[in-house]
Amino acid sequence: MADREFDLFVIGAGSGGVRAARFSADRGARVAVAEERYLGGTCVNVGCVPKKLFVYASHFRDEMESATSGFGWSVPSASFDWPTLRDNKTREIERLNGIFDGLLRDAGVQHIDGRATIVDAHTVEVEGTRYSTENILVATGGWPTVPEIPGAEHAITSNEIFFLDELPRKAIIVGGGYIAAEFACILHGLGVEVTQLYRGPLFLRGFDDDVRSHLAEQLRSRGIDLRFDTNVTAIEKTESGISAKLTDGSTLDAGQILYATGRHPLSANLGLEDVGVELAPSGAIVVDEISRTTIPSIWAIGDVTDRINLTPVALHEGVCIAETLFNDNPLSPDHEDVPAAVFTQPPVGTVGLTETQARERYGEVEVYRSTFQALRQTLTGGWERTMMKLLVDKKSDRVVGLHMVGPEAGEIVQGFAVAIKAGSTKADFDATIGIHPTSAEEFVTMRTPVEG
Ligand code: NDP
Repeated sequence: MADREFDLFVIGAGSGGVRAARFSADRGARVAVAEERYLGGTCVNVGCVPKKLFVYASHFRDEMESATSGFGWSVPSASFDWPTLRDNKTREIERLNGIFDGLLRDAGVQHIDGRATIVDAHTVEVEGTRYSTENILVATGGWPTVPEIPGAEHAITSNEIFFLDELPRKAIIVGGGYIAAEFACILHGLGVEVTQLYRGPLFLRGFDDDVRSHLAEQLRSRGIDLRFDTNVTAIEKTESGISAKLTDGSTLDAGQILYATGRHPLSANLGLEDVGVELAPSGAIVVDEISRTTIPSIWAIGDVTDRINLTPVALHEGVCIAETLFNDNPLSPDHEDVPAAVFTQPPVGTVGLTETQARERYGEVEVYRSTFQALRQTLTGGWERTMMKLLVDKKSDRVVGLHMVGPEAGEIVQGFAVAIKAGSTKADFDATIGIHPTSAEEFVTMRTPVEG
């Protein structure tokens, strides 16, 4: 080994970068991490964590309605103060930034402030200082993409929504993915009149079709103006906000327009192409099964590789890097049966294959599906319905897909994901006693397939 300053130089202190840095240092490596923005990356600063705090905030309206309509409480007229939520959230995020700093320091990782660029296969430059390193790990994440339409500069993205001076009375949300659906529900729950526009026939492409249609129905019942096969062609600034021209020829006015139309890998201007690292047309860094790029000393993990863009996946990829490089244990990240949740109201939880994927892979598939009113709703005259679905490979009896739309779907599906990962069969599900009364017990009590 040449006498270099570091064994690993990480670019980007988000979930994946910090995990790889700490775990590598724990295994005895000399590690530096450079960050130009905020410690903790998208997840901690403008993603999962503040989003979930907002999700909690947005639930209270429903909770208070249920409390008063069915459970005997009286709540003196409640009102919501956006600056309080926004600033409490920011304080918590700043606390987490400090915790990340402490974690790096305690692990003995050198934290370098500033934008890093790659000079050659073993050299990184930050603010004019060059560092030599055996390995470089690129973990720079992604950034919201806004399509180039006239007036796009008037749109905000998930980067800005967390810091608005005031909440609009009306908002338009463009996109049909995780962020669009989650913010449609958050804003609606906080009292904003929401129109969500999606360019295709049904949102959440890639999710199970029953999940997509059930959720659409639930959001509409909740009062969200969900419009499919509709997009924005131009945006104009008005005195009270913006005016959006839609593909159907109509216009829609609102205080804000939030674009949640995907994210792109942050791979530009890092010097990657100059040193010969291959990028996909999307800008994603091309990596092999152990997250190595086309240059053997340069590695990449997380959203910048555009594999599965979820924090826990980036964390896992970070651990694999530390094991591969510093524990003599080449580990390929496992991207099979990754559970996920969409924190809408009601939320979605999912693990394994969709029905379409299951049929493609296994041919004969048994479908178990149940749609019901949760007990909690019975006293409130609530219209919300929970949907649960199991997909079983008929030949092996293995449960290959499990989906839920309903309260606590993320919490429930996390547990069942272990069973799916372990290869549980429908017979195993049937042999499991339910916890009564819960919604989750439905997953172990569905006996008659609706198809297959
Ligand atoms: P997604 O990729 O999930 O969704 C993007 C949406 O924008 C799709 O509906 C897409 O439509 C639409 N779209 C793309 N381009 C255009 C365009 N030019 N005009 C109109 N619509 C367009 O991205 P998000 O931004 O919602 O989230 C990014 C990623 O972050 C997610 O994929 C997920 O991995 C992660 N995330 C995870 C969360 C969680 O775990 N709960 C929460 C938030 C984000 P189409 O389907 O037709 O392509």
